[in-house]
Amino acid sequence: MPADTALPNPAGAAPAGGRELIRLDQVTKRFGGTTVLDRLDFTVDPGKHVTLIGPSGSGKTTILRLLMTLTKPDEGTITVDGEQLFPASEKERREARKKIGMVFQQFNLFPNMTVLRNITEAPVTVLGLSRDEAEVRARELLDLVGLADKCDARPTQLSGGQQQRVAIARALAMRPRVLLLDEVTSALDPELVAGVLDLLRDIARSTDITMLCVTHEMNFARDISDQVLMFDAGRVIESGPPEKLFGDPEQERTREFLSAVL
Ligand code: ADP
Repeated sequence: MPADTALPNPAGAAPAGGRELIRLDQVTKRFGGTTVLDRLDFTVDPGKHVTLIGPSGSGKTTILRLLMTLTKPDEGTITVDGEQLFPASEKERREARKKIGMVFQQFNLFPNMTVLRNITEAPVTVLGLSRDEAEVRARELLDLVGLADKCDARPTQLSGGQQQRVAIARALAMRPRVLLLDEVTSALDPELVAGVLDLLRDIARSTDITMLCVTHEMNFARDISDQVLMFDAGRVIESGPPEKLFGDPEQERTREFLSAVL
C-alpha cells in the first residue's frame, strides 16, 4: 500500500474543506460604535486544543460568546461541524449549538438545584435523555471530576474549585464536540487553581474533545495547546504552536504582552 494512503488527507484525495470543527469567516462584531472583532477568520480542527491569548478587551471572550450564541455577529459566517451557526434559522442554530459546551469564569451553576440536578437538567430537557440515563451519566462525570460524594449538595455548599468542577461535568454531560473555556480559573482562590487546571489537562489528554480556551494561565496554555492565537484589537496578529509563540514570537506586540504576563 502506498505510504500516503495512511495519511488523513493523502495527496489527490478530496480537499480538506469543511473538515474543520469550528470555522469563522470574516466575522465582525461591533458594540455601539466600537468594532470588537474585525473581519476575523480562523478555524479549529477536530480534536485540537486552541488557546486565545491577548490583552484584556481584545475580543477573546466575545468569540466564545458568539459560539455559544449568547451574542450575534454583525457580519460574517460561523459554522460548527459543518452546520451553520450564523447566519442560520433558529432551528439550525439550536442544532449546531448542541455541539458546544462552555465553562464560564463565574461557574454559572443553578443555585437552587442540587449538583446532580445541575448536571442532568440540560441532557433531559435539551437532548431528551430519561432522568435515569442522565443520572447515570452525571454520576460518572462527578466521579471523573472527583466529586462523587457531592451529588446532593447545593452549589453554595461547595468551594469555588468544586463549583468549577461541577460546571465542567455539566458541560461534558451534553457530550459536546467542542468545549469552550473562558478564563475558568480567574475567579478561584489561588490554592484551587492548580487542581482545576490538572483536571482540564487530564480531560484534554484522555478524550478527543476539541477545546477552545481563553486563559491568562500561560503555563497551562503551553501545556495543552496545539495552537495559540495572539489577539490584539479584534484581530489575530500571530498564531503558532506554543513552543514557537511563547519561545520565539515574531510580533513585537506579542513579545510585549508575554513579557508583561509571564
Ligand atoms: P477579552 O475577552 O479579550 O478581554 P472581550 O471580548 O470581553 O475581550 O471584550 C472586547 C471588547 O468588547 C471590550 O472593549 C468590551 O468592553 C466590549 N464588550 C464586550 N461585551 C460587550 C457588551 N455586551 N456591550 C458593550 N461592549 C462590550
